[in-house]
Amino acid sequence: MRKTYQYKLKPTAVQRQEIERWLDMLRCQYNYLLADRFNWWKYNRCNLTIPQGEYCLRWCEIGSQQLRNNPDWHSQSASLPMLKKERPWYRDVYSQVLQDCVKRVKLAFDRFISGDSQGSRSGRPRFKNKSRYRTFTFPKVSRENLIGNTIKLPKLGVLEFVKSRDIEPGFKLKTASITRKADGYYINFSVEDKSVPELELDTVPTESNTVGIDLGLEKLYVDSNNNRALPQKHLRKSESKLAKLQRKLSDKTRSKKAKRLVRRAISRLHQKIARQRKDWHYSEAHKLVKSCNVLAIEDLKIRNMKRRNKPKRSPLPPFSRGVPKAGGYVPNGQASSSGLNKSWSDNAVANFVQILSQVAQKYGTRIIKVNPRGTSQHCSRCLNRVSKTLSDRWHDCNSCNLSCDRDYNSALLVKRLAVGSSQDKKLPSLLDLR
Ligand SMILES: [Zn+2]
Repeated sequence: MRKTYQYKLKPTAVQRQEIERWLDMLRCQYNYLLADRFNWWKYNRCNLTIPQGEYCLRWCEIGSQQLRNNPDWHSQSASLPMLKKERPWYRDVYSQVLQDCVKRVKLAFDRFISGDSQGSRSGRPRFKNKSRYRTFTFPKVSRENLIGNTIKLPKLGVLEFVKSRDIEPGFKLKTASITRKADGYYINFSVEDKSVPELELDTVPTESNTVGIDLGLEKLYVDSNNNRALPQKHLRKSESKLAKLQRKLSDKTRSKKAKRLVRRAISRLHQKIARQRKDWHYSEAHKLVKSCNVLAIEDLKIRNMKRRNKPKRSPLPPFSRGVPKAGGYVPNGQASSSGLNKSWSDNAVANFVQILSQVAQKYGTRIIKVNPRGTSQHCSRCLNRVSKTLSDRWHDCNSCNLSCDRDYNSALLVKRLAVGSSQDKKLPSLLDLR
């Protein structure tokens, strides 16, 4: 079992300076290595242009410069000794931390080219500015270096941290990462105990041990026992404060130093909102997970729900005052859905799902994801279709006379799907029940 513990660091002024210097050097190296990879793609290929009249081009020129091998992790790590020779100040950074930087480039590039283990590809890796490069990692740390509330790290010396909790005795210390956040520096310890197996949960869902939940906006969730978590709207509550600070920031008469202070206040406020939300999610997740042995949730793709609406072109040829021009843009509903998007973000349902699975793993509760298709449009008792728009908050079924809150109906249906699902790995969907 692998876990991560985070502690607040208490670096001395000299250590703080050194951490910042390392971050800066590592960031430059990261950007250089990334550019090296992009350049290889740029200069070792050519556009296959077919001149007019010719059908096929069997060969073409690839630039004038010499071809070289595709830079990979090995060749880029091998370049590090040269780097230290040319730029001697890089010798101050611990060698393994520098190697880890090369690994980060590799991971970012691999995810871009071939995708992660699930096959989902990320976008083109970005060059990082100061605010985007905030972490470096010591990939090998031994537990002997951890004494009391201090950790001894190569080249950085002994760092003190606030020991807010103990690491269990059986766990081995694997890595340590130092991160800069809005309110200071933090250290993350990744610890592992191979004797504790990752739980493979195969509890059979039954009517009594299962709880189904419907995730949403109006409430964070409604479960099949009709308990609900009302949204806390942390972002919306701090919105006016945030707006005030943003106004201060855009005030042209303020000095650079004053703006820096405002910027810091903004990032602290964002941090506060994120922490409030996280705390709320954890307490709700504990409540839910403790109440059952199997938890059924919908497999939502929240990223798609938050996406901006596509621009809409007018198909109408005539135009006059008030009527859109031909080929012009017409309202696409973005104004109304941006409020919705903000609520999705404020509830942070995706984070909640992640926290839920983490807490469930701890308590040995199995999570079953069901296919969300049709769960809000069908009756949980008779499975007949009861169409609703987003504004219809009540479920009224004419065939079985079930009348209840629509989210509660969905939660019941999600539970029913999980209980009625077969034991194979695929997502249970409404089709299975029929
Ligand atoms: Zn019904």
